[in-house]
Amino acid sequence: MAELQLRFPNEPEYLQAVEEVVTSIEDIYNEYPAFERYNLMERLCMPDRVISFRVSWVDDNGRVRNNMGYRIQHNNAIGPYKGGIRFHSSVNLSILKFLAFEQTFKNALTTLSMGGAKGGSDFSPRGKSDMEVMRFCQAFVNELLRNIGPDMDVPAGDIGVGGREVGYMFGWYKKMTREFSGTFTGKGLDFGGSLMRPEATGYGNVYFLLNMLQTRGLGLEGRRVAVSGSGNVALYTAEKLIKLGAKVVSLSDSDGSIIIPDGLTAEQFGRIFELKTAYRGRLWELEEEPWCSYHAGVRPWRLAQCDIAMPSATQNELDGDDARALLQQGCIAVSEGANMPSTPEAAHEFLKARILYAPGKASNAGGVSVSGLEMAQNSQRLAWTAEEVDDKLRRIMADIHAQCIRYGRGDDGFCNYVRGANTAGFMKVARAMMAQGIV
Ligand code: NDP
Repeated sequence: MAELQLRFPNEPEYLQAVEEVVTSIEDIYNEYPAFERYNLMERLCMPDRVISFRVSWVDDNGRVRNNMGYRIQHNNAIGPYKGGIRFHSSVNLSILKFLAFEQTFKNALTTLSMGGAKGGSDFSPRGKSDMEVMRFCQAFVNELLRNIGPDMDVPAGDIGVGGREVGYMFGWYKKMTREFSGTFTGKGLDFGGSLMRPEATGYGNVYFLLNMLQTRGLGLEGRRVAVSGSGNVALYTAEKLIKLGAKVVSLSDSDGSIIIPDGLTAEQFGRIFELKTAYRGRLWELEEEPWCSYHAGVRPWRLAQCDIAMPSATQNELDGDDARALLQQGCIAVSEGANMPSTPEAAHEFLKARILYAPGKASNAGGVSVSGLEMAQNSQRLAWTAEEVDDKLRRIMADIHAQCIRYGRGDDGFCNYVRGANTAGFMKVARAMMAQGIV
């Protein structure tokens, strides 16, 4: 870690993600002296490739605008590079390197053949017209197209990149390569997308949570669940929770949070879903509703009385004080929908309190899993039914849970899911790297 800190002093998120993995796999790593002889950890800490480029595009007023674009191809030991694209003003190299690093271990857990990557731009689609977003996506893909392909690197969505953006990127890629291939996942259903891909991350997280609760003989019915975010992951998490009889008591966006003391009804959820997806609206527009209260500039953790927390917005959105507040209210489980939403201090609090705590790389792996299933369907030129995909998703989440238990459960029966997920993911990638020599 000291060496990495000297090399990459300006990459705090990246160092945070690496430290979490390195410290939790130390014991098992040291059981295999060959790993050190092959300098395996250092190799894993440096992405295979970092591609960065300028993206120039023209806005609706005819002005030329410039953004930075990146693709981090982290590791392809177990399959083609695979990971989302993020469009958000906060995007920088540190954030994308942390996401790509996490993605490698997450993808290893899914049981599918996918390496790890991540990409994005500091371009924000918020407030841009459809045509501006389209021109940006085309310019972005133009720079990237030689480095992606169905057997090389398969991008997908992430923050700021949903069906619209994936459609535009896929369209330009198809035009420039003259190939209709499965190079992007998260595509529209009419052109090779998989049923259940939009739902997969949120639903998968709820399935993972159910697996965790079962280990303590607990269920979800009537439980109060605080969810953050109101994008793809948060909305489908909330939808599944409501279907299963839980009470969703919060949602948020980057402006603030809504608290719903009695839990969202299906009808209220439907209105929020429409506001967020059809109109790209903001949660403050619900300010006047009698069934919720709006809190500007605040995260939900200290406001929502809950049994379970599912942070599903962004990295480091739940800090040590939030964690202590959640524990004080009697929170029994935290299942992360976002990537690294808990700060190291918060994660430490959860582990110390021995609650059920799932790190995102295990609990949010449903999204990339169904992306993997989309790749499989594209290769076969077939489309599976929603039931088939959902059934596979449930099985994959149960399998990931079992891997966490295998490597994370101690003699006293407590499962440290952070150690379990990191170790299981690491061991698979490490075995593949060792078998392939120094490449
Ligand atoms: P979306 O863009 O659909 O939604 C993101 C949500 O988080 C929005 O409500 C957004 O609010 C909020 N948000 C974004 N940045 C911030 C911030 N800095 N502070 C507070 N709120 C913020 O993204 P997704 O739902 O796809 O992604 C959410 C998280 O889940 C990310 O960490 C992503 O990496 C992770 N993830 C996503 C997967 C997927 O399949 N989409 C798969 C696995 C993980 P606003 O609208 O105001 O910006």
